[in-house]
Amino acid sequence: MKFDVIVVGGGFAGLYMLHRARGLGLAARVFEAGSGVGGTWYWNRYPGARCDVESLEYSYQFDERLQQEWRWSERFAAQPEILRYADHVADRFGLRSDIQLNARVAAAHFDESARCWTVRSADGQAATARYLVMATGCLSVPNRPALPGLERYAGAVYHTGAWPHDKVDFRGLRVGVIGTGSSAVQSIPLIAAEAKELHVFQRTATYSVPAHNGPLDSAYEARVKADYAGFRARNSQMPNAFGSNLPRNESSALAATPAERQRAFEARWRHGGLFLLGAFGDLILDAQANETAAEFVRDKIRATVRDPALAERLLPRQRIGCKRLCLDSGYYETFNRDNVELVDLNDAPLEGATPQGLRAGGRDYALDAIVFATGFDAMTGALARIDIRGRGGRALREAWAGGPRSYLGLAVAGFPNLFTITGPGSPSVLTNMLVSIEQHVNWIAECIAQLNARGHATIEALPQAQDAWVAHVNAVAERTVYPLCNSWYLGANVPGKPRVFMPLLGFPAYAKKCEEVATAGYEGFALA
Ligand code: FAD
Ligand code: NAP
Repeated sequence: MKFDVIVVGGGFAGLYMLHRARGLGLAARVFEAGSGVGGTWYWNRYPGARCDVESLEYSYQFDERLQQEWRWSERFAAQPEILRYADHVADRFGLRSDIQLNARVAAAHFDESARCWTVRSADGQAATARYLVMATGCLSVPNRPALPGLERYAGAVYHTGAWPHDKVDFRGLRVGVIGTGSSAVQSIPLIAAEAKELHVFQRTATYSVPAHNGPLDSAYEARVKADYAGFRARNSQMPNAFGSNLPRNESSALAATPAERQRAFEARWRHGGLFLLGAFGDLILDAQANETAAEFVRDKIRATVRDPALAERLLPRQRIGCKRLCLDSGYYETFNRDNVELVDLNDAPLEGATPQGLRAGGRDYALDAIVFATGFDAMTGALARIDIRGRGGRALREAWAGGPRSYLGLAVAGFPNLFTITGPGSPSVLTNMLVSIEQHVNWIAECIAQLNARGHATIEALPQAQDAWVAHVNAVAERTVYPLCNSWYLGANVPGKPRVFMPLLGFPAYAKKCEEVATAGYEGFALA
């Protein structure tokens, strides 16, 4: 099988890449490991899964009729609705005929003489293409901590990121959830409401702000849709590519009085959504300013959780925002329930599984089900699991052994005609991902069109441009609190992963840079 473009992954990135490639008249094929499209929203079917960027923003903008016609039922849509949307897009744009499902790509090798990529699936099928686009996702490889004894555990084991397609019934069961990140924060209130007992195994207490989710206000929807393009344009000027309704206040938290700070934080807390850290301009830049927001959330936890000793154990101590902020519907309140117990792994380290449950701090917890809400091998995990080889047979795994290195988060020196959508080194997971995905796909599509028009066969990032870019990404991160705690942004959640801050802060400046690079005839790239 021979194509112009092979796309690996059938989530929002892969679907739109296919649509754009076809629009250029290219023969394109998507290989997707799952049995359906939708990526994140195909895999993460745990109770409570929903977006935390508002649905009117967490949606495609490339087609005006699509964005006008699609109706979201809630401010933050739940997983089934987002998956229906992905399926709708696949049908509406007739994409399915070029998507091969149940096809996990195991290897991709660049042939220097033929100047094309050969891609092999896990079941041995091969296909070639001039361009290879990795739309493999930043949060698509579940992180499953090695838990001694798990193979002998007799109960059910789940991971939020690979949830069964049929409803899991927790009624009457004793359930253990490991983790307190976004997936746990969303699922814990629902599991607690259903299960007989819920034991939450917490390693690091989390900061979460209320979603105040509810039915989508139709008057607000109408206002947005009256000028959807304008709304999208304003959002793309925000540092995280969403939230122009409540932009960041650029003044300093430290220059404000305590009463002014309280008012500003409270207003954003009441608004709901991921807006709290926009209350002041220095909250993610300055540790002391950061502490004012952190203490505001701690006070909210103290006011919510009735047992003061329990509240104390739920108080996060790391900088707020340096692990991704969570959005919840009744997370802290859940710990007031009689059937919920918090197991603080700092007092009682997780020792492993027994045939009946989990053992922590010398105590046995009898469990009918264990839920791993332990996150993902983020940003590089999916790429590292494919044997990708560029010039001279060099493996990407080897090139990235010390951490990912890319130019613009889009291309890697030594790997011609390979593109990574929302790759490390781009704003990616620090943004509304739908905006970053579309920006990358548009750039890649335009790039391929330009190369074809000018008769070039290959494009390849120059090592010096890549080095300068990596230095830039690091320098930007160093000015913030992000490198100060053990987050998945740094790879710190996966034992042995190099500690490197992977995404780039600041969408608008990044998008402008990408445009300038293209306008300057792909500055920093070699074209041949
Ligand atoms: P994915 O949706 O991850 O799709 C990648 C696809 O590639 C997967 O289907 C995978 O099976 C496939 N794949 C990977 N490797 C291979 C291989 N070797 N061969 C074949 N196929 C392969 N972002 C936001 O901006 N806002 C949100 O509110 C938000 N909520 C989220 C909630 C959850 C629970 C999670 C986990 C993530 C959330 N994200 C959110 C991030 C989310 O991942 C992105 O928004 C977006 O869905 C990513 O789309 P994608 O197509 O790039 O990747
Ligand atoms: P996560 O943020 O990485 O959280 C994983 C949790 O598991 C953390 O509490 C972590 O503790 C814990 N953990 C990991 N390994 C452990 C171990 N060996 N022992 C004990 N605890 C362990 O993962 P996630 O919750 O799946 O979220 C990942 C990202 O996906 C989010 O940050 C977000 O970008 C996206 N997401 C978004 C939403 C949404 O609201 N729309 C929902 C889910 C996911 P430590 O903190 O101590 O490492």
